[in-house]
Amino acid sequence: MTVALKRWAEVREVEAADAPPRRRSPLGPVARAAETAGGRLNVSFEFFPPKSDEGEAVLWAAIRRLEPLSPSFVSVTYGAGGSTRERTHRTVGRILHETKLRPAAHLTCVDASREEVDQVAADYWAAGVRHVVALRGDPPTGMGGVYQPRADGYANATELTRAIRAIAPFEVSVGVYPEKHPESPSLQHDIDVLKQKIDAGATRAISQFFFDTDAFLRFVEAARAAGVTIPIVPGIMPVTNFKGLRRMSGQCGAALPGWMETLFDGLDDDPETRRLIAGSVAAEMCAKLAEEGFREFHFYTLNRADLVYAICRVLGLRDRVAAA
Ligand SMILES: Cc1cc2nc3c(=O)[nH]c(=O)nc-3n(C[C@H](O)[C@H](O)[C@H](O)COP(=O)(O)OP(=O)(O)OC[C@H]3O[C@@H](n4cnc5c(N)ncnc54)[C@H](O)[C@@H]3O)c2cc1C
Repeated sequence: MTVALKRWAEVREVEAADAPPRRRSPLGPVARAAETAGGRLNVSFEFFPPKSDEGEAVLWAAIRRLEPLSPSFVSVTYGAGGSTRERTHRTVGRILHETKLRPAAHLTCVDASREEVDQVAADYWAAGVRHVVALRGDPPTGMGGVYQPRADGYANATELTRAIRAIAPFEVSVGVYPEKHPESPSLQHDIDVLKQKIDAGATRAISQFFFDTDAFLRFVEAARAAGVTIPIVPGIMPVTNFKGLRRMSGQCGAALPGWMETLFDGLDDDPETRRLIAGSVAAEMCAKLAEEGFREFHFYTLNRADLVYAICRVLGLRDRVAAA
């Protein structure tokens, strides 16, 4: 050590001795996240393909607002039974050609032959898409709520993942359910299924949305204990339409905790207050997960940018690039 460096080390030692003892932060989780997070996070945004010109304008306003946050990817959903096939394709194509974003196309196997699904995946690869979110899909209403694989189709997301990877070296993300998939006998079964998907080529798991952050943390811990090493990314949905969510909560495997009922009670005709509550609930969840060490977040945007943009700011993200 040179004399100058030794002197510097001595000065630092004195400074450290003089520094007041570190106190436990009096701040809440959101303020702590703002103080500590900053720029080290990866986010992704999920959109659905619009049905009308008006919906298209809303979607693109959201994409343009979120684009400067430089997400790792943006994904576009695929309607039940491939009902949005053309619209998903068109939206993914526009993202690819008109923005600097990296699109991920959702693909499902419901009500389609293996050949049809393979063709969609091959078309995506040829168009320049490199990331697919591979899902089984939900049973269409005609199936009476029970999923029936087609004899000539893929039976589940594992088979779909394997097929997609055989077509081209896509990055493949898959779905997971921190509170158990509604058709699964147990969480352990879900974790076994996740391991099958990873063996088939999945490199990222994105969770169903949830409100019980501890349930998500327990799921990740159990998956890690079972040897899962790929990223398990929390799926965050700022919920503004609580009434609608209550209606569909059983189908998606996300429990609605009593405190959510209390928060939204009596607000059916007060969308502005619902939005404020939705933003603060999601921000608190994200801040807590950031404190637990999570550095990737997937946002179900429902094609609206404002709450997601605000939550990303809470997490320390700032505009990184000028919009294309
Ligand atoms: C991030 C995310 C994005 C989504 N995007 C879309 C979308 O764009 N379009 C859409 O229609 N739906 C979408 N969904 C919903 C999804 O299609 C449904 O939740 C569907 O019910 C399950 O899909 P999966 O890919 O998880 O299925 P799978 O992984 O195939 O699992 C479905 C059920 O079958 C069981 N299972 C799977 N493999 C086996 C096996 N080998 N043996 C025994 N049991 C097995 C599982 O335990 C589970 O209960 C999305 C879900 C998530 C989490």
